[in-house]
Amino acid sequence: MGLFSLLLITSLVTSHSLKPPTSNSPSPKLVVGITIDQMRADFLTRFEDHFTDGGFKRIMNGGFTCYDHHYGYAPTFTGPGHASIYTGTTPSVHGIIANDWFVRDKNTTVYCSSDSRARGIGNDGIDGLDGRPLVFDKAGQMSPTHLLSNTIGDEMKLATMGENTPKVIGISIKDRGAILPAGHSADGAYWFYGQNHGHFISSTHYFRMLPQWVIDFNNEGRAEQLCNDGWDRLLKESAYSKCSPDNNPFEGSFRGEIRPTFPYDLNALKAANGGYDVLKATPGGNTILVDFALAAIEGEELGRDGACDLLTMSFSATDYVGHRCGPHAQETMDMYVRLDRELERFFDELDDIVGDGNWTVFITSDHGAAAVPSQAQSLDMPSDYWTPGNLQDRLEVELDIKFGPKDWVQNISNNNIYLNKKSVRSSSTFEDVIQRYVSALCVEEEGILMACGAYDLASRAKVDPILKNMYNGYLQGANGDVVFVLNPGWMNYGRTGTTHGSPFAYDTHVPCIFYGAGIEVGSTYERTYIRDIAPTISTLLEVPYPNGCTGAPIHQALKK
Ligand SMILES: [Zn+2]
Repeated sequence: MGLFSLLLITSLVTSHSLKPPTSNSPSPKLVVGITIDQMRADFLTRFEDHFTDGGFKRIMNGGFTCYDHHYGYAPTFTGPGHASIYTGTTPSVHGIIANDWFVRDKNTTVYCSSDSRARGIGNDGIDGLDGRPLVFDKAGQMSPTHLLSNTIGDEMKLATMGENTPKVIGISIKDRGAILPAGHSADGAYWFYGQNHGHFISSTHYFRMLPQWVIDFNNEGRAEQLCNDGWDRLLKESAYSKCSPDNNPFEGSFRGEIRPTFPYDLNALKAANGGYDVLKATPGGNTILVDFALAAIEGEELGRDGACDLLTMSFSATDYVGHRCGPHAQETMDMYVRLDRELERFFDELDDIVGDGNWTVFITSDHGAAAVPSQAQSLDMPSDYWTPGNLQDRLEVELDIKFGPKDWVQNISNNNIYLNKKSVRSSSTFEDVIQRYVSALCVEEEGILMACGAYDLASRAKVDPILKNMYNGYLQGANGDVVFVLNPGWMNYGRTGTTHGSPFAYDTHVPCIFYGAGIEVGSTYERTYIRDIAPTISTLLEVPYPNGCTGAPIHQALKK
């Protein structure tokens, strides 16, 4: 038995034996929701030997860990993930069905946190207004307008209308990682704009001018300092023995770089990699987020007055490194070992500013990731790359032969096939029959494991756990007529690095840890779902569940 398990049992026993039958659980002054983009569940234990006592291990040992925590739906992408954590439901209800998805009526693609009515706001004011140049453009035209449900923070606002309104702030390197968690009524959401700025920006959805603490933070030049720091391994190379060798063919490089190897000279890479955007894929992207979080806590006085405030943080650098290098790279391990130190710094600061015992945190991830297929292939595993190729042409030809010549397929994206509604409805054949025929054609393609039409999804989801995930990710009226699933370990991606999005465990299994005021010490191996996090926090705060919530509180995590 390891020290960790011993500690866990000891603390479990003590907390149970000392607990009075009815106790007034302390309620937090500040809840911090932390999402670590693309963090797989196994990373918690895989890198544990190299974590400090004050970061991940502090909250695992002193809080409640759900070891079998899953998304319970596909598509396992960033936008849907962040929306699900804070709405307590799945894309079938909250409507964020991908990062970008096809909209039939407009025959175009929409981005999950885009809003053409909003304008970006930077240090100089509203982007492109009063003769100012349009700098942020689409990167600033953001809001949660596509999110159909409300969030933890929205319900906190509703529950305490009038005096003592809680503050709700969302921050991330990625716009969608800041905006969707913060919800509709947030006081502010801030995301990183690199290029030659290296600033956090926001949009007119929230206000007409950045708060002074944001302007001050941007003026500090933190992005420049972090670029000067560069990126080398934190530990000696032998500590990375669970990882692939530093130089290997399964990792991608930064632009303008020959090998994907340490050390990284970020100033040299800046010009070819979007200026300060280079930080997004390095530990500096996490450091600047912690710095900004602390500035937000000070600037907004979070956790100071009577009402409990909410800060949502999403670390994105972990996702960028995964996409470039995959889960088994030294770069990825180094990213987590360094993030652990950043979390320790953050928790220590929370103790100082808000007070130990006055704050509650949860850590989870928005999705996992597959092993790099080319790397899995090198170990004789059946992973591979899939491309739509001539699937659309083939469907058109086959449907013409079967049901008569028409323009049948409108779009194929996110493993959804959107048939042309006009063609389908003017056909003498029923829609469900056409869907079944398209599904049958799909599974003839190499790499497609299963396909299912919208008419059959609910019934097949009852008996098939993979299709159940697809069903939970399916929004009626927005998704395609037929959805398909690639073989396990297959993806539509380049040959280096990895991606996610599937209904399989490598994409759905993520960490979930609660810690702090009102949280029990312990762990569970029972299956829990991402949609359960929001009602757990709602119960802790004694506010209603978000209005689309379909999850249930993880009651074992809550002090009774
Ligand atoms: Zn993500």
